[in-house]
Amino acid sequence: MRAFVSIALLTLAATNTVAQKDAKKVTLKEHYPKFRTEYVQGKVVYLGEALKQYYGISTEPETHQRTLAIYTRDGQLLPLAENLRGRAFRTDQRLRNKPMELFVRRYEKHPILQVIRTYELRDEKKYQVDYWCDVCAIVMFEQGDCACCQDNNRLRHRLVDQKTGITLDR
Ligand SMILES: [Zn+2]
Repeated sequence: MRAFVSIALLTLAATNTVAQKDAKKVTLKEHYPKFRTEYVQGKVVYLGEALKQYYGISTEPETHQRTLAIYTRDGQLLPLAENLRGRAFRTDQRLRNKPMELFVRRYEKHPILQVIRTYELRDEKKYQVDYWCDVCAIVMFEQGDCACCQDNNRLRHRLVDQKTGITLDR
């Protein structure tokens, strides 16, 4: 009988711990700052270099290329979160210092943009940019080996139809 009670208590304790953890998760999620999604146009640069070039602010040399940012058409300098999509701008210089449009999450409480989709603007046309393996027909978000066959992926530009916003295959 005593053993049964102990097991019952242990089970109850375990259930409580799980419930508390779930409650904590919900609370944390509710406290994440709100964001909106929007398009931002500009060129992607290194924050430290841009601070010097556009604002005359000197930073220590080792920080010049530490953070990526977009310098917008209206002169704002907004840092980018360096997840896979963000890091693509570091690992592929073809994506930096040219007119781009980023579809991003912009948060209420901090200035760091989270990149969702990348577009290049060229000759008054808009191209969605990603990486593609012709053999496996899979999309990737960073330059390098194909996640499947390990062959090199390629930078892909797909024309976006201006009227419908639909990306046309090329
Ligand atoms: Zn492949």
